[in-house]
Amino acid sequence: SLKPELITATESQRAAMRRDPMSVVLKDMFFANAFPYLEVRRPFILGTREQNWRATLSHRFVELLHKKTGKLTRLYTQNIDGLDYQNKGVPPQKVVNVHGSIGRVACEGCGTPAAFDSFCDSVQSSIKDLYSIDPAAPQESTPILCSACQRPLVKPTTVLFGSNLPAEFFTRAEEDMPDVDLLIIAGTSLQVSPANSLVYRANESAVRLIVNNEPVG
Ligand SMILES: [Zn+2]
Repeated sequence: SLKPELITATESQRAAMRRDPMSVVLKDMFFANAFPYLEVRRPFILGTREQNWRATLSHRFVELLHKKTGKLTRLYTQNIDGLDYQNKGVPPQKVVNVHGSIGRVACEGCGTPAAFDSFCDSVQSSIKDLYSIDPAAPQESTPILCSACQRPLVKPTTVLFGSNLPAEFFTRAEEDMPDVDLLIIAGTSLQVSPANSLVYRANESAVRLIVNNEPVG
């Protein structure tokens, strides 16, 4: 659970986090103070590098499609966990992270990308550990600056509340959807827009295959 009193923030920012823990992932909060986001996400970011969570057979199926058949047009995923990048056989440009990804890093201010691995090094050495699991963590957080604009706005590309979805989603969908002949929709109840609109954007004759544990639509 969130412990605002431990987070590097002003009293009014802490009060906002107490009222609503989701304020940690608000765009306005992040631009005012990046520490709540980075401190809360620290274990998730570093655990992603350590591969504490592993790609499943469903992730691997996408790799199989690409490597065995060469017919993968694109993987659109709403997952932010970065597990798709454990599929080393799938080129990154085949993956569109509709809501961004914990495994990709960029400056929220100017968009300049940063390498995930060196970002993780910075998180490890600059961001304090709220959860007392890393004895090597610093006692106090210090900013991680963008190499281009020098602002402390570098973060995983996961979409903050109040931010737009990555433009890539819209441009890729426009390119891809008119030509697909098979759309495999897996592990989604199709409740979340605009990812669910892909179903209607595929061309009329495309076969749509849905795989999900619960009823969909
Ligand atoms: Zn920047």
